[in-house]
Amino acid sequence: MSFKSRVLITGGAGFIGSYLAELFIDRDWDVVVMDNLITGDLGNIDHLMGQQGFQFFKQDVTEYIHVPGQIDAILHFASPASPIDYQIYPIQTLKVGSLGTHKALGLARSCGAKFLLASTSEVYGDPLIHPQPEEYWGNVNPIGVRGVYDEAKRFAEAMTLAYHRAHGVDTRIARIFNTYGARMRLDDGRALPNFVCQAIRGEDLTIYGDGSQTRSFCHVSDLVEGIWKLLHSDTTSPVNLGNPTEIPIVDFARKVLKATNSSSELKNQPLPEDDPRVRQPDITKAQDVLNWQPKVTLDEGLGLTVPYFEKKIRESGTESSTLSES
Ligand code: UDP
Repeated sequence: MSFKSRVLITGGAGFIGSYLAELFIDRDWDVVVMDNLITGDLGNIDHLMGQQGFQFFKQDVTEYIHVPGQIDAILHFASPASPIDYQIYPIQTLKVGSLGTHKALGLARSCGAKFLLASTSEVYGDPLIHPQPEEYWGNVNPIGVRGVYDEAKRFAEAMTLAYHRAHGVDTRIARIFNTYGARMRLDDGRALPNFVCQAIRGEDLTIYGDGSQTRSFCHVSDLVEGIWKLLHSDTTSPVNLGNPTEIPIVDFARKVLKATNSSSELKNQPLPEDDPRVRQPDITKAQDVLNWQPKVTLDEGLGLTVPYFEKKIRESGTESSTLSES
């Protein structure tokens, strides 16, 4: 019998989930990953397979879930998470945020485990308050194309606090802002994978709208440290986790060109429906209660991320003809 703590990570074969799995293994926890692999990828956890204390279950968290043995914490990270993915999987996105959160909370209750919900800055929608503090209730279009994700996560937050209040489950809610790093999928449609792949392939960078909309990008190594600290804190109300350095998307694209040493051009395309005009986390609460703030600058983070995309593109044989000839 193991005396180590044991964590279940739903969506643990995804981009952020796989870094969490690694972090918890490194910090001497046993780790169980559950993933239905619709947007997750076994390649992200290949290096953990076969390691002592690591287990993987291919399972859909929206159905009845059972994990044999003790569970001390559940990190509920299962969900499509890019605007393209949740438009491809709108019903799965709604189900995993609602039914999946219910199942994961039920398991936490029955095991006496702590429960941490991966929520999102999308709960603030197209925000009318800037930067966004946790007290802001948001400006969300429930019936727009992003509504399936935004409302699922808002429901998930409500469900999490209901289990806390009604059943005394020890819960945490992380509101995660734009996060990037290696292991993002080449084709997931988000700004960073799109721009980096386009730049490496020598294609035009697709700037939606005029590119004046802003985002604030957090490197995944900072984010998972924040999740670790949040789990070990006693804060049951939501906490923003993200990098507060805000940048217009067009300037972000230029940084990608520099980091990839690319001479691609920028090309404007129509702005998608309900694309938030601005986004920047107010991280005062995370600083105060978790003593956490990001350390990795965008330039450093791009430097850590670009080689992964170069390798993936080489392996997939999808370099542009100009680059593959050189
Ligand atoms: N974006 C863009 N070109 C792309 C992909 C995204 O201009 O090829 C913009 C998108 O419209 C949004 C921002 O980049 O304003 C961030 O998009 P992403 O999909 O990464 O995440 P979001 O923050 O919108 O969920």
